[in-house]
Amino acid sequence: MDYVSTRNSSNSFEFKDVFIKGLADDGGLFIPKSLHRYEKKDLHEFKNLEYTELAKKIIPPFIGDFMSEEDLSRIIDKSYSVFRKKNVVDLVKVGDRSILELFHGPTLAFKDVAMQLLGGFYEYYLSNQNEKINIVVATSGDTGAAAIDAIKGKNNINIFVLHPNNRISKVQRRLMTTGKEKNVFNIAIEGNFDDCQNLVKAMFADKSFSNEIKMSGVNSINWARIIAQSVYYFYCYYLMEDNNKPINFSVPTGNFGDVYAGYLSKKIGLPVNKFIVATNQNDILHRAISKGTYEVEKVAETISPSMDIQLASNFERLIYDLNNHNDEKTTKAMKDIKENGKYLISEENLNKINNHFLSSSMNENEVLNIIKDVHTKFNMILDPHTAIGYGAFDKVKLEGNNIVLATAHPCKFPDAIEKAINIKSELPNELLYILDEKENYDIVENNLDKIKNHIKERI
Ligand SMILES: *Cc1c(COP(=O)(O)O)cnc(C)c1O
Repeated sequence: MDYVSTRNSSNSFEFKDVFIKGLADDGGLFIPKSLHRYEKKDLHEFKNLEYTELAKKIIPPFIGDFMSEEDLSRIIDKSYSVFRKKNVVDLVKVGDRSILELFHGPTLAFKDVAMQLLGGFYEYYLSNQNEKINIVVATSGDTGAAAIDAIKGKNNINIFVLHPNNRISKVQRRLMTTGKEKNVFNIAIEGNFDDCQNLVKAMFADKSFSNEIKMSGVNSINWARIIAQSVYYFYCYYLMEDNNKPINFSVPTGNFGDVYAGYLSKKIGLPVNKFIVATNQNDILHRAISKGTYEVEKVAETISPSMDIQLASNFERLIYDLNNHNDEKTTKAMKDIKENGKYLISEENLNKINNHFLSSSMNENEVLNIIKDVHTKFNMILDPHTAIGYGAFDKVKLEGNNIVLATAHPCKFPDAIEKAINIKSELPNELLYILDEKENYDIVENNLDKIKNHIKERI
C-alpha cells in the first residue's frame, strides 16, 4: 500500500516513512492511495477469530513489507498480552445500548490499544537500524501515559511528553510521571492542550531541529494508531448478537482519531450505519457536522479533559475526502483554518459528511447527570468521556445496534465521579502504587525555544 500526503499527492511513501515521520514534511497527513476492501464473504471468514488473530488479518494490507508476517504476529501477541482481558476489549449491554470497553490496557484508556502496538513497531524498526529516535508528543492526558508505557525502557528511543500544567487529572498525571525509566521525560507546559500541540507541530516543522534530534511523533494523527484502532470496530461487529440490524457507534471525540478509525473500517467494508461524533462543550466538530461551520473558539476546561480540544487534527483527512482527494483544495482549506480560524463546509459536502457522521455536544451538568443516571439504573460507573458518548444516543435517535465506545476507566477521573455520585472510583489494585510514588516532571514556559533547548539538553 502506498501513501500520499493530504497536501501533496504526487509523492508516494511507504508505511515505514508514514509511521516514523507521523506528519508529512509539507504539514499534511498521510493517507493511503487506495484501500483494500473487504466484501461480505471476507467478513464472514473473520467470524470467531480472537482479537489478536483478527488484528493479524486487518493490519497487514496497511503495512506492506514493513515486517514479515511472523514478526507482526509476534508483536501483536506481545502487545495485547498486557491487557486485563483476553480479547483486549469487552462488550457490555447497558439498557438499550451496548458499551465497548476499550480501557483494559496498562494505562486505563483506549489509547493503549494502539500505543502498545506502536511500541512494538518502534522496537522492531530500531533493531534493524543504527539510529536513535526521540519521540515528542503532546497529550491532553491519556496519550502521554499510553505512549510512555509502550516506550519506557526500550533501547535507542527517548520519549518527551508535553502536557498542559494543572489541566489534567492527578491520576492521569501520576500514570505518566511516576515511572523510573531513564528514557522518559515529562514536561508540564504553562498553557492548554492546544498550546502543547502547537509546540510539537512547530518543532516538527523546524526541519533542522527535527532532523537533528531524529524526532518522531505518536500523536493521534499517526496512521499506525488509526489502523490499530480500526481493529476493534471489526471485532465489535462479531460480538453483536444480530449484526444484520444497522450498527451505530457513538464515539467520544477530541482529535477525531478514534472516530476516523471507525470511518476507515467502514470504508474498507465494515457495514456501519452512522458514527456519532460526541463532544463536550468544546464542540467545534459538532458545529461542523451539524451546521457546516468548522470555526475555532476558545478552549474551555471540562471534566472530560481528553476532549478539551478546538482544532481536531485528524479532520484534515476527512476534508481531503470531501475535496475528492484534491491536495490543492485541501491545502487551501487548512490555510484558511490556520489564518482565519474558519472553514465553511458546503451543503453538498455536509450531506456527504452526514451520510456517515452525526454529532452531539454535552455541557458539564448533562455529563454529571448521565453518570448519575447510569449508576442509579444499572449500577455502572461511566467515566465522563464515556458518559458523553452514552448520552449522545439520547440526543441523536437511531435504530439498531447502538454501541458506545468506553474510552477510559472512571478511576482516571475520580473528582468528576465523586461530584456526580459521591463515590470514590478506585484504581485497580495493580496501579495503586502510583498514588505514593515520587513524581518526575519539569514545568516549562509555553515558549518554543525554551522547549527545544530543554529537549536538546536531555538527549
Ligand atoms: C483521547 C481521548 C478521547 C478522544 O479521542 P480522539 O481520537 O482524540 O478523538 C476520548 N476519550 C478519552 C478518554 C481519550 O483519552
